[in-house]
Amino acid sequence: MALEITEVCVGCYACEPLCPNKAISAGNPVFTIDPDKCTECLGDYDKPQCAEICPIEAAIVDEIGDPLNPLGSLTGIPIHLIEEYNTTGTVARPGV
Ligand code: SF4
Ligand code: SF4
Repeated sequence: MALEITEVCVGCYACEPLCPNKAISAGNPVFTIDPDKCTECLGDYDKPQCAEICPIEAAIVDEIGDPLNPLGSLTGIPIHLIEEYNTTGTVARPGV
């Protein structure tokens, strides 16, 4: 039972000091979580502290790869617009 940091991590250091188990390390190119140390914060906090502070959507995922902060959850951008942009490189604006 451990979380994982993905390739979209920007290395902002926000999560590292909050981990109660010192499971997070600065890495190259992204930070990493030691699976032997991560407890998903059980027994210390109600929610995983790294995911609570992380400002990047989809940077922290669970064991099956589901992001704790899914696309759109922090920015409020509707998922269909994110998918359109990721597919086409642009977003069509009505009347333009
Ligand atoms: S879920 Fe908790 S224990 Fe695991 S890396 Fe994040 S802050 Fe550390
Ligand atoms: S808070 Fe998120 S973006 Fe910042 S270092 Fe941690 S995982 Fe990477």
